[in-house]
Amino acid sequence: MIVGVLREIKAEENRVCMTPAGVEVMSSNGHKVLVESAAGVGSGFSDQAYLEAGAEIVATPAEIYRRAEMVMHVKEPQPSEYGMIREGQILFTYFHFAASEELTRAMLKTGSIDIAYETITAANGSLPLLTPMSEVAGRMAAQQAAKYVERAQGGRGILLGGVPGVAPATVLVIGGGVVGTHAAQMACGLGAKVYLLDTNLERLRHLSEIMPKNCFPMMSSPAAIRELVQEADVVIGAVLVHGAKAPRLVTREMLTTMKQGAVLVDVAIDQGGCFETSRPTTHGAPTYSVEGVLHYCVANMPGAVPLTSTVALTNATLPYAVAIANQGWQQVARENPHIKEGINVACGKVTYRGVAEAFGLEY
Ligand code: NAD
Repeated sequence: MIVGVLREIKAEENRVCMTPAGVEVMSSNGHKVLVESAAGVGSGFSDQAYLEAGAEIVATPAEIYRRAEMVMHVKEPQPSEYGMIREGQILFTYFHFAASEELTRAMLKTGSIDIAYETITAANGSLPLLTPMSEVAGRMAAQQAAKYVERAQGGRGILLGGVPGVAPATVLVIGGGVVGTHAAQMACGLGAKVYLLDTNLERLRHLSEIMPKNCFPMMSSPAAIRELVQEADVVIGAVLVHGAKAPRLVTREMLTTMKQGAVLVDVAIDQGGCFETSRPTTHGAPTYSVEGVLHYCVANMPGAVPLTSTVALTNATLPYAVAIANQGWQQVARENPHIKEGINVACGKVTYRGVAEAFGLEY
């Protein structure tokens, strides 16, 4: 199959959908990979590195869309690309269709086969192509909190781990899933005292077995949150309620009981945020203050660390891309129910229930 690797054109997006190491694997499976010139630059990969891995460098996205049977991206196609997409062409990327009726209708019109990273499933019911980005965002949340709690950044001026003779900071992590666990591990590693809250008792049992001694997994409730925010120097919001907006767990009123210069990191901001006072921010202007409490609410946190994010993402996507290229989308859909779950739109029809329901379309 001819596989196309596009350069990302969405603002603040420096990731790329395939590394040179991935190109080498694709090529060894008998496929030809076309890479748009400068596609990897934001992630530290030169055109030369792709050439050496066996890719052909092409100048324009138009040429990729004209020649490739499967086109890969990180983000959803932008309006400037809609007219280049061909009938029957496979597109493999993050689509998040349910968030955009315009994108859904545009893709239906192209007659393309749209396989979305975010709805591919694993045998244990998890979403394996979302997990790596949650791992990045979780680890980064602790790192950002450590930075913004410094005085010059507007924070209280406290070191997360303290020093001998000085108590460490208290970090409250709400949500003990992928993001929360990684955030808590990093904060624990820096020496903070960490409370990790979740509503799932089985999950809490597991966390109390695997987390270090300075982490205290606890049942989440409004009362527990109300009490712990008063002690916290940092609060990290990492909840997810599947198929729903994030619940507002820290209210404006609770902020008035918090320490001045404490830091809130709302990783769940991409689902609306789990603090009442959260609103989306950007890497350019990541923080703002409410009631003397610093808020960090960047919706695409992995975008700040593209060298890590690209490799984490492509480690996860490559086996699926190879399977689709080896077998073609129809055979892979028959043989692999997990990749089948990824097909959201095919040949002008919506093939994923959630997307059809979101816009009242035929399924
Ligand atoms: P996950 O499903 O692995 O974990 C969510 C956890 O929240 C679950 O363990 C669940 O039991 C728990 N939970 C639900 N309600 C709760 C409550 N009231 N109190 C405490 N815990 C509660 O999800 P994840 O992969 O960890 O993602 C968490 C959030 O981070 C999601 O909203 C996701 O979209 C977001 N995210 C944001 C970015 C970013 O760049 N901002 C990047 C990746 C993920």
